[in-house]
Amino acid sequence: MTQHTDVVVIGGGQAGLAAGYHLRRQGLDFVVLDAQATPGGAWQHTWDSLHLFSPAAFSSLPGCLMPPQPGQEYPEAGHVVDYLSDYEKRYDLPVQRPVRVIGVHEDGRLLRVETESGAWHARAVISATGTWWRPFLPAVPGRGDFGGRQLHTVSYRGPQDFAGQRVIVVGGGNSGAQIAADLVHDTELTWVTQRPPRYLADDIDGRALFDAATARRRALDEGRTDTGGVASLGDIVAVPPVREARDAGRLKASPMFTRLDRDGVAWADGTRAPADAVIWCTGFRPALSHLSPLGLRGPRGHIPTQGTRAVADPRLHLLGYGDWTGPASATLIGVGRPARDAAREIAGLLDSER
Ligand code: FAD
Repeated sequence: MTQHTDVVVIGGGQAGLAAGYHLRRQGLDFVVLDAQATPGGAWQHTWDSLHLFSPAAFSSLPGCLMPPQPGQEYPEAGHVVDYLSDYEKRYDLPVQRPVRVIGVHEDGRLLRVETESGAWHARAVISATGTWWRPFLPAVPGRGDFGGRQLHTVSYRGPQDFAGQRVIVVGGGNSGAQIAADLVHDTELTWVTQRPPRYLADDIDGRALFDAATARRRALDEGRTDTGGVASLGDIVAVPPVREARDAGRLKASPMFTRLDRDGVAWADGTRAPADAVIWCTGFRPALSHLSPLGLRGPRGHIPTQGTRAVADPRLHLLGYGDWTGPASATLIGVGRPARDAAREIAGLLDSER
C-alpha cells in the first residue's frame, strides 16, 4: 500500500526534527521516517564520556532551549538524547520508527519513497540522514594485514575495552582528541595525526565554530574574500578532559604512520609501534545511498545544492550534512536556520503547484 503526504522527511535525528518543527509552522502535511527504534539519532550510539563542545543553551533546536545538565557545563550525549526525545513529544512530531528508507524514486510529478515497510508518495522530500552511518576509513597500506583489533569512532565505547593495551588512535579532529584523552590513563597510547594538532583557544568553544561558519557563508554569499570559516580557528575544541590531558603532557601527537603490519604500525624512517588495537577517528561521509535512484550525485559524491535544495530537483532538500547544506548545519544550534529555509522553500513550491 502506498501512503500519501506533502513532505517525507528521511531521518529523525536533530536535523529531521528541526525540519519537522518548521514544516509544522508552514502548515504542511508531513511524516518523519527514522531507521532507529528510539529517539536521539546518532547521539544514542556515541561513547560514554562524550561531551558536547558547547553549553546547553548554545546547543538548542528551534523553539525550545536545551535545559542545562546539572553539574555539567558541556552536556553529555545522554542529555542530548533526552532533549531530542522531549522535543519530538513537545511538538507532537509525526515520527515513525523503526522505518528505514531504501530508495527515493521519480514517479511523475511525485517522489516515491520506498521503505522496508511500504511506500510513500510525496510532493517533496527532505533528506536528513546524517553521517554517523557512513564511517570513513582511509586506505593505508597494510590495513588488512594488522592482526589486532581495528575499529572506527562509531564502535568506540570507552577505555574499559582497552585496559592495559597498546592502542593507536588515528585522527586530529575532535573525535580523535577526545578518544585519545579518554584512553591516556588506562592504555599505552600512541596518538597519530596528519598534521600537528590545532587546538582552538581554550577560552572559546563550539559557539565560535558556529559564528565562524555563519560569517564565512555570509562573506561568500556577498562575494567577499573567503574567511576560512571553522578551519581558520583550529580543529579541536579543548573541552575539559582534552585540556587536562594536554596540559599534563599526556596528549603528544606523532605524525601519521606510513603502513600497518601484522603487529602494529610503522613510519617511513623505520620506527615501529607495536599495537593491540587501532582506533580510526577519521571522519564520516554523508549517508546518501537512499538517494542513488535519483542519479543526482556530482563529481565529489555530493549532490550539488543551492542552500539546502538539490540544484537538479527542487522537490529534494538535503539537511544537516555539512556546510554545503547550510553553514554549521551539522550542529544542533546550526541546523535550525537551514531547516526553516528548506520548509519555506518547499511551502512556496507546493503553493505554486496548487
Ligand atoms: P543523525 O543524528 O545521524 O540522525 C540521522 C537519523 O537518520 C538517524 O536516526 C538515522 O538512523 C536515520 N537514518 C539514516 N539513514 C536512514 C534511512 N535510510 N532511512 C531512515 N532513517 C535513516 N554537534 C553539536 O552541535 N555539538 C557537539 O558537541 C557535537 N559533537 C559531536 C561529536 C561527534 C563525535 C560527532 C560525530 C558529531 C558531533 N556533532 C556535534 C555533530 C552533530 O550534531 C551530530 O553528528 C548529529 O548527530 C547530527 O544530526 P543529524 O540529525 O544530522 O544526524
